[in-house]
Amino acid sequence: MNLLITGAGRGLGLEIAAEALERGHRVFAGMRNPEKKNAKLSELTARYSDKLICVRLDVTDEDGIADLAADMRRSGLTLGTIVNNAAVLEARNTPIEQLDMEAVARSFDINLFGPMRAAKHLLPLLTEKSASFINISSEAGSLTNAYPGDYPYGITKAALNMLTEQLRRYLKDRGVAVYSVHPGWMKTDMGGEKAPTDPRKSAIGIMDLIERKVVPDTPFHFVDYTGNAMPI
Ligand code: NDP
Repeated sequence: MNLLITGAGRGLGLEIAAEALERGHRVFAGMRNPEKKNAKLSELTARYSDKLICVRLDVTDEDGIADLAADMRRSGLTLGTIVNNAAVLEARNTPIEQLDMEAVARSFDINLFGPMRAAKHLLPLLTEKSASFINISSEAGSLTNAYPGDYPYGITKAALNMLTEQLRRYLKDRGVAVYSVHPGWMKTDMGGEKAPTDPRKSAIGIMDLIERKVVPDTPFHFVDYTGNAMPI
């Protein structure tokens, strides 16, 4: 299967790429700066030179995404999975009275409009059998778990869950599985050192969902990385 993952240069995105490669898939690893590789990405590039393709992909750049889609189409490439992983957590714990609206706008641009741009331009390539469209969401996007603080993050993830449901209905007849996945509180740059979950563990769960080893039985497709339903 061919997977395209956004924000694949570090954190969860890189772990999903590593797990997919280990399972024999081909990965188009989207990143803002493909020439700037950390140690793990360099090691993977060397080990999987034929299966790991690092592509320039800034999710705020619609023309760039359209060009990437056109290049892939011209090369006769298809996709089996798109993982919208790139996101930012800005204005953390900021009271509403002090909220920087530019940070809110940036969060929408990356966390919500990014996956929308990916859907708009890349869905026509998602033609492989048992295809998936995965939005990496967060428990912060659940109305049940709503907390005052992290306003842009929680609101963009809640909206992302709506996009998931809209696309789930749109793509049902094509056999494309669409999920919002809460990956757990993970030890990454975003999650911090105190986080209990190793992002590798989340990546394994997400790959099991993608490979349909785990098929959640939930009315809405908002699940955690083990496939259990998340509260809306
Ligand atoms: P990190 O902050 O560690 O990594 C974020 C990734 O997003 C980086 O690869 C970054 O690229 C990329 N990115 C940011 N902006 C853009 C952009 N404009 N275009 C392309 N890529 C971009 O986050 P995590 O790995 O922890 O998070 C991954 C996903 O999991 C996110 O969707 C997050 O919301 C979600 N999540 C994380 C939790 C956690 O505990 N960590 C908890 C719940 C959900 P660059 O290197 O260029 O900055």
